Amino acid sequence: TDVKELLLSRIRDVADYPEPGVMFKDITPLLADPAAFTALTDALAEVVERTGATKVVGLEARGFILGAPVAIRAGVGFIPVRKAGKLPGATLSQAYDLEYGSAEIEVHAEDLNAGDRVLIVDDVLATGGTAEAAIQLIRRAGAEVAGIAVLMELGFLAGRARLEPALGGAPLEAL
Ligand code: 5GP
Repeated sequence: TDVKELLLSRIRDVADYPEPGVMFKDITPLLADPAAFTALTDALAEVVERTGATKVVGLEARGFILGAPVAIRAGVGFIPVRKAGKLPGATLSQAYDLEYGSAEIEVHAEDLNAGDRVLIVDDVLATGGTAEAAIQLIRRAGAEVAGIAVLMELGFLAGRARLEPALGGAPLEAL
């Protein structure tokens, strides 16, 4: 579609970043183009409406940039899931494995409750490790995962196959 072409044309491939052999998908040209950023926001807000989500969770850091305008457009609240140690209030934490070592993400415990239906928003789905940890965090808070919406899925890393069991039928939408 036209929207897909527009979005793809505003994503820049950066070779050997952040390390040799990796082709990084840089979304800053898209953010700098108001027509593309608006089209992306509208398309993601449509997923909020389609899934009946009542909250948007954005994953640090680019999930904040995309998720916040989506939440406003859709008329729902925005909840940040941050790297460990950044949130001032009482948090729930979830550790997950990286290729080398591990990482930890957190959410304010009071931001998610039973009865919430949460759409997870991020820019890029790679291995799915971050999104999988976010799903666990949301469920442990007592909320329901309405789905995941990302700008781009790196299909060769098989994140979708990894997430499908955890999603239990909830949609994973990659624009
Ligand atoms: P995963 O946990 O799925 O392996 O990695 C996803 C996380 O890493 C996302 O939060 C995403 O922002 C970031 N990420 C991984 N690869 C890329 C990339 O090529 N481009 C961008 N913009 N983010 C990436």
